[in-house]
Amino acid sequence: MLDVASKSFFQALSYSRTLKTLASRYGMSGTRAFARRFIAGETVEDAIAAVRHIQSQGLLCTLDYLGESVTSLAAAENATREYLHLIEAVDRAGAERNLSLKLTQLGLDVDRAICVDNLRRILTAAQACGFFVRIDMESSAYTDATLDSFETVWKLGHRNVGVVLQSCLYRAEKDFERVNALGARIRLVKGAYREPKSLAHQLKSDVDAAYVRLAKRLLIEGTYPAIATHDEEILDEVRRFAAERAIASDAYEFQLLYGIRRDLQTELRDAGHRVRVYVPFGREWFPYFMRRLGERPANVGFVVKSLFAER
Ligand SMILES: Cc1cc2nc3c(=O)[nH]c(=O)nc-3n(C[C@H](O)[C@H](O)[C@H](O)COP(=O)(O)OP(=O)(O)OC[C@H]3O[C@@H](n4cnc5c(N)ncnc54)[C@H](O)[C@@H]3O)c2cc1C
Repeated sequence: MLDVASKSFFQALSYSRTLKTLASRYGMSGTRAFARRFIAGETVEDAIAAVRHIQSQGLLCTLDYLGESVTSLAAAENATREYLHLIEAVDRAGAERNLSLKLTQLGLDVDRAICVDNLRRILTAAQACGFFVRIDMESSAYTDATLDSFETVWKLGHRNVGVVLQSCLYRAEKDFERVNALGARIRLVKGAYREPKSLAHQLKSDVDAAYVRLAKRLLIEGTYPAIATHDEEILDEVRRFAAERAIASDAYEFQLLYGIRRDLQTELRDAGHRVRVYVPFGREWFPYFMRRLGERPANVGFVVKSLFAER
């Protein structure tokens, strides 16, 4: 229950303009740059430097140019161009070709057709340079629109694209069947958003049980699934299951977030697993950052400590 309250609290705070202004002032620069623990920086250059560092450790990456919930077509166009620029820059740098994005960043709230068109432009450029693109899953208000948009581009022939399913939602199993029938790649997460009782499990134990159930189905029936969690107990169970069923370690991958459980990232790598780190960057880092605080309120202590650190 604490989990639910904390998610709600930090989700509410993420709409605060004052907090956002304060965080933007201190979060990313100077010795008090508390957000740098979770966000790779604000520029493409920062992101590419982070990717290089992570790759040098034998880990894989996916880059997320942060942004969501745009309210104008101009902002959606801007985000689309940033992604096109990112593809060129990563291609030139010879860094790893894997992106994550959110549809509300490409205009889902403004005009669905234009959003899908923006997505297609990104997928086409990505395809030409050998990138894979993951569509992140946002709150339940967007589940249908996200899956429908994904299906549209899939039916138009794009294959370098995958989606995310959230085990907290009751509908996850049905969505799994729908996406899996296409043969598309799924990333499984617990879900980062506060959701109502009518749509989602409220108890962590229920979210976790649903996660394990779906992860096992994905390992057996899925197409190169991504098991995205920092939950050690779940990771152990998934690893045990994969070993029992003799599922090859290159038939799936684990995914973790930048700056979170770095010990676990290298431990999984050392055990011979594929591990992908989700690397967020960009100026619009505040809502992402607040979700990370909501998942683990102890992170607030880390932020406060950074703020009062000696210069
Ligand atoms: C690669 C990746 C992509 C994701 N994409 C999406 C997406 O598209 N849509 C979506 O809704 N959610 C996404 N998420 C977030 C996800 O839904 C969860 O909110 C998040 O991963 C925390 O849940 P958990 O599985 O780690 O388990 P939890 O039970 O929350 O945590 C297990 C343990 O992990 C550690 N931990 C978890 N979170 C933090 C944190 N913020 N700071 C420090 N330690 C932490 C703690 O040790 C904790 O005890 C993604 C997560 C990952 C790893």
